[in-house]
Amino acid sequence: MKRQQAIMFLTAVLLAAVVFADNGVNDLVAVTSVNSRIRLDIRYATTNNFTGKQVYPCAKACLHRPTALKLTKAQKKLEEQGLGLKVYDAYRPLSVQKIFWTIMPDERYVADPAKGSRHNRGSAVDVTLVELKSGKELEMPSGYDDFSARAGYTFTNLPPKAISNRTMLRATMTECGFVPFETEWWHFDDADWTKYPILDIPLERLP
Ligand SMILES: [Zn+2]
Repeated sequence: MKRQQAIMFLTAVLLAAVVFADNGVNDLVAVTSVNSRIRLDIRYATTNNFTGKQVYPCAKACLHRPTALKLTKAQKKLEEQGLGLKVYDAYRPLSVQKIFWTIMPDERYVADPAKGSRHNRGSAVDVTLVELKSGKELEMPSGYDDFSARAGYTFTNLPPKAISNRTMLRATMTECGFVPFETEWWHFDDADWTKYPILDIPLERLP
């Protein structure tokens, strides 16, 4: 009887560990493992970003699996028109958020690490539109991480193409379960972002 109880206890501990892991590391998947046609340009793994420094040790775009599935739905919709998505950023460890905040302590553009960014939850993604075949970026109102009024949806003094591309990206992402961010045309939150905790898992440990 005692042995049976010990086995049951161990089973319960193991199950709890699995559930914990699923809410932490295991549920985060590489976007390209869900849809290899989604292109990547992980700017924080290069010096081509607002910090001017490489802040990620590797170029990875990870999201919670349900969020990645929503993104692949958007990709499929765009492919019907010969277009696709290119990801600039996805899951971002909290420690990196702290670096960003010291450089740009303005909540219109960077989330206060005391509250955490939705990127830290693996439930936000920065994307743009590309031509499916060539991968060439479509014209948008501004470059990525342009911390100015041009990046916001209320800015309309733009070429008509930039406005229509911005509108198409927003409409597609919204239709597929994302919520846009008024001051950044490239940023989208999974509508279910509150389900996920803030994480600080290093990118090197992710798939
Ligand atoms: Zn973002």
